[in-house]
Amino acid sequence: RAIGDFDRKREPGAKQFMTGILMDVTEQKNDELRKNDFIAMVSHELKTPLTSMKAFVQLAQRRLTGGGDQTAALAMDKAEHQVSKMSSMINGFLNLSILESGKIQLNLELFNLEKLIENIEKDTQATVFSHTILFAPVEQTIVHADEEKISHVIQNFISNAVKYSPRGSTIKVACINDETEARVSVSDSGIGIDSYDLPKVFDRYYRVEGSKLATVSGFGIGLYICKEIIIRHGGRIWAESDPGKGSKFSFTIPMPTT
Ligand code: ADP
Repeated sequence: RAIGDFDRKREPGAKQFMTGILMDVTEQKNDELRKNDFIAMVSHELKTPLTSMKAFVQLAQRRLTGGGDQTAALAMDKAEHQVSKMSSMINGFLNLSILESGKIQLNLELFNLEKLIENIEKDTQATVFSHTILFAPVEQTIVHADEEKISHVIQNFISNAVKYSPRGSTIKVACINDETEARVSVSDSGIGIDSYDLPKVFDRYYRVEGSKLATVSGFGIGLYICKEIIIRHGGRIWAESDPGKGSKFSFTIPMPTT
């Protein structure tokens, strides 16, 4: 008889006994948290060398194409594709580790969104050559938020825009603010999302059918993590889309009250 099993055929009202084993799972939980920290640390550490690898591969690719060596240029093109895939997987691991750690801890500080977006612009200029990414001018926007997490949300939006729109297309990043909130949006001219899927893309593990078929890797948790981060900041997050034409992902965070 298995532990916890009991006889369902007894008379109504008869006493029933269950046996069980109580285990202290604190150590197990700590192990899991350590594992998550480790995954997050490794993913962060892998990001930097991969970013420079990507830049070198792209430089070599342009030189080889310019020099007329099409076979080598094609090989570099394939290498670049694989490096991009690895970056996207690392981003996925970071999302997984945030998810597994159970709760999103915010490290709030005052910082300038204008500077953060400038840094993201520099980073994408050095690493994304498959698309044109246009950054609209941003004015100084001081917010009270977790800079690393907000950066993670913007990078997730950009990485999705790259994943779900054709090579060579344009992606636009904008940030505006009024007295009450700062609003960041990333628009693409990609595959778009139909009205049935649109409200679900922020759900945990949700991936649109067509995207599963495409050779795009993903765990379906990036936007869920983005939603959790923004909600914890007291902001709003949403998506608009014209299927077949493109999508626009936006979030807001409240401006600090002075
Ligand atoms: P994934 O790892 O699958 O990209 P996300 O949580 O980031 O997970 O996104 C969930 C789903 O939303 C994706 O699988 C895709 O179907 C859809 N999606 C996200 N961003 C876009 C976009 N810019 N254009 C079209 N579809 C998108």
